[in-house]
Amino acid sequence: MRIRAAVLEQFGEPLKVTDLELAPPRSGEVLVRLVACGVCHTDMYSASGVDPSGYAPTVLGHEGAGVVEALGPDVKDLAVGDHVVTLFSPQCRECEHCRSERTNLCTAIRAQQNLGYLPDGTTRLSRDGQPVRHFMGTSTFATHTVMPEIALARVNPQAPLEAACLFACGLSTGIGAATSTAQVHEGSTVVVFGAGMVGLGAVVGARLQRAARIICVDLSEERLRMARHHGATDTWLGGEDTVERVLEETDGMGADYTIEATGLVAVMRQAVEAARMGWGLATMCGVAGKGETLDVIPRLLITGRRIAGSSFGGLKGRDQVPKLVDRYLAGEIDVDAFISHRITLEQVNEGFELMHRQDGIRSVISFT
Ligand SMILES: [Zn+2]
Ligand SMILES: [Zn+2]
Repeated sequence: MRIRAAVLEQFGEPLKVTDLELAPPRSGEVLVRLVACGVCHTDMYSASGVDPSGYAPTVLGHEGAGVVEALGPDVKDLAVGDHVVTLFSPQCRECEHCRSERTNLCTAIRAQQNLGYLPDGTTRLSRDGQPVRHFMGTSTFATHTVMPEIALARVNPQAPLEAACLFACGLSTGIGAATSTAQVHEGSTVVVFGAGMVGLGAVVGARLQRAARIICVDLSEERLRMARHHGATDTWLGGEDTVERVLEETDGMGADYTIEATGLVAVMRQAVEAARMGWGLATMCGVAGKGETLDVIPRLLITGRRIAGSSFGGLKGRDQVPKLVDRYLAGEIDVDAFISHRITLEQVNEGFELMHRQDGIRSVISFT
């Protein structure tokens, strides 16, 4: 079928919105009609060409939500008409990692996905007979996409898809860091570094876990206002004295939990140093640049601090994204407050421009 899609043709150049050919779903795959898709930093980062593992041409986009339109052979758990959120972090429920409670990092399709292919090593996207690769296994800057069913979470059809799509990436990453990776205890003190999508999600997660004190640190007053809206009890402008300030405010002990959501290694170091002796857990969600390293004083670890890495918030997407969507519908998560701009697919480059200027938290593409 003919689809409309935003194609990354050349690194460092604007995306080109154009017509492509999309082949029907094969074994275990599903055709999804996109209704909404968030524009994320990861898309912009890949388009810039700074990411050494990037490839082109490809259809970007990974924060999608839509409706199942057709099923390939052997699809077990989805039906036509289901509302779905796309998962760049799939859940096959069969691999060693999926069968373990200790990780959410499914290994079933990882190798092909990283290369831009669907699990059988081919693409469904093409133009003039030439293959166009799939980005993050999702390629949701498009009117339609084909994805393996293990990378789709079926969600409550009552949820507006323009809100549900935000659970495909940053929001779930932040919430899950607090609820799943750190498993924040009730009554504890949490420091969240960064108040972008992931950091604000971590504030929400800490609130859902009933933390007593949630300190959010950022450089933008406007974002700190949003952090207060989502449940931060204290908001601080970040600086070199942040660790000192955390220690002062916690009787010299440090915070029970720190969550890093900036991707800056200097801030990661602060997150480790602000964690409490004895049991402080520093959770790293931010993605640092390739080749960068984290400087940690080993004595801090000997004295009981721990560091955890968290990808997609440690969430198993097909099981847990639907539950988060239900909590949104129950009024526990104000997803709508994250949507700052609504744009069309043709305006996708303006979405990048808004993000570049740090104007708002999320632009959402509406396909209807
Ligand atoms: Zn993202
Ligand atoms: Zn798996």
